[in-house]
Amino acid sequence: MSTIVDQWVKRLKGKLPPVGEMTHWQRMTDAFDLKPTDYVPAAPELDYWQITYAGYSHREIYNDVDKTTDACIKTWADIRTDAIWMYVDIGHQLESFVPPEKRAEHFILRGDKDYLLFKPVAETLDDAIAMFEQKVWEKYGPDSRAATHYTPHMLQLLEFQEKMDRQVPIIVGIGTPTNYAETVVEVQRFLKWMVTEPESKIRYYLDLCLKERLAALDFYAQFAAKNGAQFCCAFGGARTWGPRHLDKFGDVDRIWVEKARTIFPYLFWHICGHNLPHALQMVSGWQGIKAVQYDMPYYGQEMPWPQWFEQVAKLLKGKQCAANAPTTQLACHGTSEQVTRMVREFIDSTLPHTTACVMPGCEIDSFSPTANVKAMIDAARARKL
Ligand SMILES: [Zn+2]
Repeated sequence: MSTIVDQWVKRLKGKLPPVGEMTHWQRMTDAFDLKPTDYVPAAPELDYWQITYAGYSHREIYNDVDKTTDACIKTWADIRTDAIWMYVDIGHQLESFVPPEKRAEHFILRGDKDYLLFKPVAETLDDAIAMFEQKVWEKYGPDSRAATHYTPHMLQLLEFQEKMDRQVPIIVGIGTPTNYAETVVEVQRFLKWMVTEPESKIRYYLDLCLKERLAALDFYAQFAAKNGAQFCCAFGGARTWGPRHLDKFGDVDRIWVEKARTIFPYLFWHICGHNLPHALQMVSGWQGIKAVQYDMPYYGQEMPWPQWFEQVAKLLKGKQCAANAPTTQLACHGTSEQVTRMVREFIDSTLPHTTACVMPGCEIDSFSPTANVKAMIDAARARKL
């Protein structure tokens, strides 16, 4: 039981004005189930942003669970998004691969609003393989921020979700096997090795990552799903893999999804960066993925936004909800008029084919103006469906 959560529940329960005819929870589940909703749900990925919105610096919350949770709930109470994203950073993902005395040189908190920077935890493919073979997380995990910050924060938000009678879902985020495979060594390096290293070695490494990620799902079943979590964002990797590599190695993520879908009824896929149609096609064929949070078209594909929205919506038709708009760049650097326009274009181009969720392709930058975040939510709620 958490005091910070109880304070918020006391302040908010039964006291918030309704938004539309559905609860936030219903709006999200119905859109993900491809059913009609009163409004298009708006669930921008605010993990870093909500920290600064709530008046905290990233240094301040780095090891402070209560402040991290407080920021998420305060932001939701003010702007009423249709879901709450838990705060996640790369330290949560990688600290359990690094000995405690080495962490300071691996993770760099630059400024109050900046993302946490990191250095890859393995330099060579052999080093990376050795780390997974030795299961270093069993040794370094227990005092890592995954255990001391991420998990208690997740549990607090889930406690809030349940005590508020599931008005608003908490989105739990998990890295997929390809995401881990790339992040541990750095994406660019891994892409290079896919060409220079023997295929069997790449395969072996990816299988090790898959094994670790499948085991991680047991933790999520026990600590997230058992405490009420139903929404899960799968942070996919393999964003810039070519069709040949996707066909050859993409199955590790598919196998992971087969298990994740038995734990989370509302599992969705996050694929950010420049998206290749082939990658989206692959994900659109996976059972158990309820929505796809996609991003920009790949380089060289000269395509106006409405056309890209429409192309993806057609691909997801009858299968998945399309989650996008505005771009994270526009959310940060554009005007609120531009944000409004892009959200409208996204909704107009998507709804003839599938359901929509206003959710930029990646997380909202800490420096994004509040007016822009509000504009994307208002644009979703400006139109009754
Ligand atoms: Zn992303």
